[in-house]
Amino acid sequence: MNAPFKNLIAGEWAGSQNASRNINPSNTNDVVGEYSQGSVEDLNNAVAAAKAAFPAWSRTTPQERYEILKKASDEILARKDELGRLLSREEGKTLPEGIGEATRAGQIFAFFAGECLRLNGESIPSVRPGVGVEVTREPVGIVGMITPWNFPIAIPAWKIAPALAYGNCVVIKPADLVPGSAWALVDIIQRAGLPKGVLNLVMGRGSVVGQALLEHKDVHAISFTGSVSTGRKVAAACIAGNPMKKVQLEMGGKNPLVVLDDADLKVAVECAVQGAFFSTGQRCTASSRLIVQAGIHDRFVEACIERLKGVTVDDALKAGTTIGPVVDQSQLDQNLKYIQIARDEGGKLAFGGELLNRENPGFYLQPALFTETTNAMRISREEVFGPVANVVRVKDYEEALAIANDTEFGLSSGICTTSLKHATHFKRNAEAGMVMVNLATAGVDYHVPFGGRKGSSYGPREQGAYAREFYTTVKTSYTLA
Ligand code: NAD
Repeated sequence: MNAPFKNLIAGEWAGSQNASRNINPSNTNDVVGEYSQGSVEDLNNAVAAAKAAFPAWSRTTPQERYEILKKASDEILARKDELGRLLSREEGKTLPEGIGEATRAGQIFAFFAGECLRLNGESIPSVRPGVGVEVTREPVGIVGMITPWNFPIAIPAWKIAPALAYGNCVVIKPADLVPGSAWALVDIIQRAGLPKGVLNLVMGRGSVVGQALLEHKDVHAISFTGSVSTGRKVAAACIAGNPMKKVQLEMGGKNPLVVLDDADLKVAVECAVQGAFFSTGQRCTASSRLIVQAGIHDRFVEACIERLKGVTVDDALKAGTTIGPVVDQSQLDQNLKYIQIARDEGGKLAFGGELLNRENPGFYLQPALFTETTNAMRISREEVFGPVANVVRVKDYEEALAIANDTEFGLSSGICTTSLKHATHFKRNAEAGMVMVNLATAGVDYHVPFGGRKGSSYGPREQGAYAREFYTTVKTSYTLA
């Protein structure tokens, strides 16, 4: 198969002849496109191109970089409907969600265009007479990026934009399941005026292209988003190599949403249903553990079921669809496996969990809500990464907080309450990188730091001005005047 969508290496659309089919999960008869499956040779060529481009690119002025990023942002935003449609077609999130994600990618590029102009340093008096100290930031060098399938345009955007803004060169390997959105994004950035070789795209398998990127001696840093198990391998490879690589990992979650007796029921149900099930529950920040106080428990569960009866699971591109399909067969199998595990553990399936038939063949699953679960069960401890959530009943706020924190993950943590005291205490004591009060655990701004604690994240934060911690390296210079 000769792929029409090729890799971008040294400014040319080129690379290996092997290709893979990008299949629409809403209609498995629909082939979104045929995309190159890169080889180790392609990856080596991409890194060589980035290495050759780095000396000139790292010396460009902030104005030159601003103009390229701003132009890319303008095109992404002008084409958000078309890009959102492509994203929904290849990943399965609904069209409004797809357009929303494409818009976010454009906003991220606009933000980092501004950041090009804001990079500053420090001048610090020395402890020694006559000596001046300057602290400046320089690009890290060649940054390798490995991304997951669930945010096919936003995650590549929030890695590529800061990397370029601070003067780095990039080799990106997107998820092999959804290469289309990353391809379209890279095409836009390249045409915005980027010199050849500054940004390179090598699509293909993690075990081939990803592994070669991790092992390449000329790559200085790796930014990875994906599962914990792959993340561990990524970190180990970055440290094992010579020279060692700077590494940043964003991984899974088992995000708690606490609902206290004094919560506004409508707000709590909306936070739970949106947070747990929208985007098919395929978000690292999904509210997959609902920790509910006894006094509101039954009313909350009943209202969630009523709300779930009103959602429409169907083709992602169809008007009126609220939840699209699961991304592929293996993810669907994983969801069904966990539904069975929760049943076997004694959880009560209060709603959903059935496979659904729709007009076209696709991976349609009714959202599944379990009750009568404990925090010790596997359904409470392991990331399912699908439209599956469980309710754990608790007696008071103290127990809710303890259970919320009793997890190996620490990405996002939420509470629904009208008590200022409990909201304030929760914000201070939740062991998570992001805390939400009366908001779903999923759904964040694009201009502030994103990331977690414990098993969810490793290394500096992504997004906002904090992104510079990863994409720059600090130099301290001393001068005797
Ligand atoms: P995954 O770990 O299977 O794959 C992620 C990427 O790693 C893919 O591009 C894959 O090809 C690549 N890869 C796989 N094996 C590799 C290897 N040996 N060497 C190098 N690269 C390799 O994850 P996924 O299934 O694509 O994504 C779902 C996971 O991502 C979930 O756990 C989810 O929580 C997580 N996620 C986290 C965030 C966050 O910011 N915290 C955001 C989105 C998704």
